[in-house]
Amino acid sequence: MTEAGKTVLLLSLPNYDRRYMFHKEMGSGVGFKSLRAPKNHGRPRQIYAIAELQYAAAVLRAAGHRPIIDDDQYRDSTSRGLYRTALKERCPDCAAIFVRTSLPTLFLDLEQAELLRELYPGVPLYIFGPLFAAAEMVDFVKSRKVYDGVVASEIEAVITDIVEGRDPAEIQGLYHLREGAYDCGNPARALTNMQDLPLPAYDLVDTGKLDRFIVQTSRGCPIGCNYCPYFISQGNKFRAKTAERSLEEIRHLVETFGAKRLIIHDPIFTLDRKRIERLCELLIEADLGVEWECESHMNHLDPALIELMYRAGLRILAYGVESANEEVLKKANRRFKNWEKMKENIEAAKKLGIETRAYFILALPGDTVEGAYATMALARHLGSDYSKFNLPNPYPGTGAYDLALAEGRLDRALFERDREAFYRARGLHGHNEPSMTEDISDLQAQYLSRIGNHSMLLERETGLSLTRRSKIAAYKVAVQGISALRQVGLPVG
Ligand code: SF4
Repeated sequence: MTEAGKTVLLLSLPNYDRRYMFHKEMGSGVGFKSLRAPKNHGRPRQIYAIAELQYAAAVLRAAGHRPIIDDDQYRDSTSRGLYRTALKERCPDCAAIFVRTSLPTLFLDLEQAELLRELYPGVPLYIFGPLFAAAEMVDFVKSRKVYDGVVASEIEAVITDIVEGRDPAEIQGLYHLREGAYDCGNPARALTNMQDLPLPAYDLVDTGKLDRFIVQTSRGCPIGCNYCPYFISQGNKFRAKTAERSLEEIRHLVETFGAKRLIIHDPIFTLDRKRIERLCELLIEADLGVEWECESHMNHLDPALIELMYRAGLRILAYGVESANEEVLKKANRRFKNWEKMKENIEAAKKLGIETRAYFILALPGDTVEGAYATMALARHLGSDYSKFNLPNPYPGTGAYDLALAEGRLDRALFERDREAFYRARGLHGHNEPSMTEDISDLQAQYLSRIGNHSMLLERETGLSLTRRSKIAAYKVAVQGISALRQVGLPVG
């Protein structure tokens, strides 16, 4: 092996706990896990390609190295023994290993470092992921001292320098273990120049198992909602590929891998309107027959742009609405509340046959029971095809997380006493997260989200749906009862 051609292993490690689906790519790559229905535990889990693995591999290859991606999602290993054999078969030897971690998998990724040391003795082990935009997560991993390097920078920006042995002190955002302590010459995170990224190395994964390819045409969001992991992990500087470069990537996925569906995984896809108009025109002209979905901000959309996007292949449009409660929006630094503009966009999209998906968060700081019901009423008024009511899931590093810790909405005592137990409890989404506001108890928050989600399902169902109706009625009574008890000073729920 020459110095210019090293074999580098890029890993997403297995998770044997089949009760959960691990969404490493979601939440700006910080990730979360969600419970699976028991009847699905024996079935393979859905695969979401992790964009950075393909991009980092492409960067290495462009520099003359030989990357191997082993993302266990494609194998879905059921035991440590099977994984061990399969991994060694896939990569008998390598010069460096990079493990892509996430909030819900961090502890598994720390524990499994030992297995990697056994399989690849003497090979340097690095851990990376958007999670490390939060300094406290870097500090926590450093305290465990199981990886030779913790990479806080976006991986594509620094991986070649690390592999080629540049002085670690000169590599931005690299914490390097030396003589029992981590050094970092420059903690400022390096961010990827999106336009310079080579085409993603999807040839290194089993694309036959993917129902949708994930691409990123931009990173960064200048809006800065205080609960948002994108803003923390990708920064506030919008960095985008040109329309021409984005088309080249989409064409590559279609023509090389037969991609029929894409998720464009940008925080705010239509921020630069001219870029999107040009990309849509190019896609229409190229007539690739590919359908795609994206997430964007309703302030950066209008019916004309939506129509152009539809002609270019847009079929699912997702957007955060978050709350109808003005106090919540103010506290979250979420300034957009032009509901009529939003409704106009939703109607335009639905008329064309684009599926519209709205996301709401109940029990954010400043929310009240009345505010939560007003948010549900807003969802009905907007009339999206799909409305989901989540509870707050404060990501480390965000303003919402700091506030929740300061106000004791997250367990401050546990945070101080046992950081491992505290972090282990984070990252589970859609399952009884605590309220972030004094006016709504934890139990009320859970019932309110159920009321919202059941009510939305009810609107889509035909027939009487008596069970669902009685559940909604029971939850409403419970919310009201808890409010009454709290008013007389009883600490309920
Ligand atoms: S607009 Fe969207 S991507 Fe940007 S900070 Fe707010 S929630 Fe995050």
